[in-house]
Amino acid sequence: MTSDYLSLKAPVFNVQTYSIHDGPGIRVTVFLKGCPLRCLWCANPESNLATPQLMTYISKCTGCGACAAVCPNHAVTVKERGGKMAEFTDRSICTECGLCVEACPSEAREIAGKEQTVSEVLEKVLRDKLFIDASGGGMTVSGGECLMHPDFTEALLFAAKEKGLHTAVESCSFASRAVVDQVFKYVDLDLLDIKHMDSAVHKKLTGVPNEVILDNIRHVYHDLHVPVIIRVPVIPGYNDSDENIAATARFAAEKLGPDVAVHLLPYHRLGDSKKESLGEEVTLHIEVPSDEHMQHLKSIVESFGLASQIGG
Ligand code: SF4
Ligand code: SF4
Repeated sequence: MTSDYLSLKAPVFNVQTYSIHDGPGIRVTVFLKGCPLRCLWCANPESNLATPQLMTYISKCTGCGACAAVCPNHAVTVKERGGKMAEFTDRSICTECGLCVEACPSEAREIAGKEQTVSEVLEKVLRDKLFIDASGGGMTVSGGECLMHPDFTEALLFAAKEKGLHTAVESCSFASRAVVDQVFKYVDLDLLDIKHMDSAVHKKLTGVPNEVILDNIRHVYHDLHVPVIIRVPVIPGYNDSDENIAATARFAAEKLGPDVAVHLLPYHRLGDSKKESLGEEVTLHIEVPSDEHMQHLKSIVESFGLASQIGG
């Protein structure tokens, strides 16, 4: 580790305290911005790009015009929207400078993502150390995709371990072998996504094939000897067939080991409102899976002798 590792920077869009779905105990989850996948159902669309992005919340907007008055690019106008006067931002000329965020009296605007140093993030994580220690928790690095920022992620994980924290990583595992080896040496638990077992379908749904992903998961488990939990976002109509869930469980049982749990994460619609806040169109309308369907998929995983749970 270089001597200046605490000053390495990455775009962070959230440091979430009291996380209970990202590994054991109470955790602080650090969300990095930037992802090499483009899942059709993405729950965190503000994490896709590695650069800061303006988010606007029309439900909070009073149409006061303070944002329009300060915008140096004249990107904002106030006009009738959804039965009330509200801001409209022309994102083709917005430079994400953040002046309108400071001017807004209603917290109706936000810049998602800010470059932060390892030292700054660690300081925030350690504020919760009492709760973390008392609950057997730790720090989880998530995204976006943390492997897109290998130097920062390695340094943050190293620094957390220096402070005696349990470390976990949530990752799509789409990265070079060198990056995987660099980052995973300071990880106590891997929460690794598999979106679909058919590579051609995986490419259609996420933009990339799955061979590298499955290969990296095998490498992390067998060669780096880091415990792995497989996580499957269950997206009705896209990857929730009995065949695909069985193929995922078979991969975990036969290519990894019997100690690997498979967590099934039911689709939720939080990503839709975030897309709207980013000025993006919601083109996909997916039904939330029923409890019965989730229980059925869980029983398929369990039939392979693996532990399974619904939710993280
Ligand atoms: S972020 Fe800056 S450029 Fe964009 S709308 Fe706000 S003030 Fe204008
Ligand atoms: S400053 Fe805030 S509340 Fe006022 S118009 Fe702009 S976004 Fe809406």
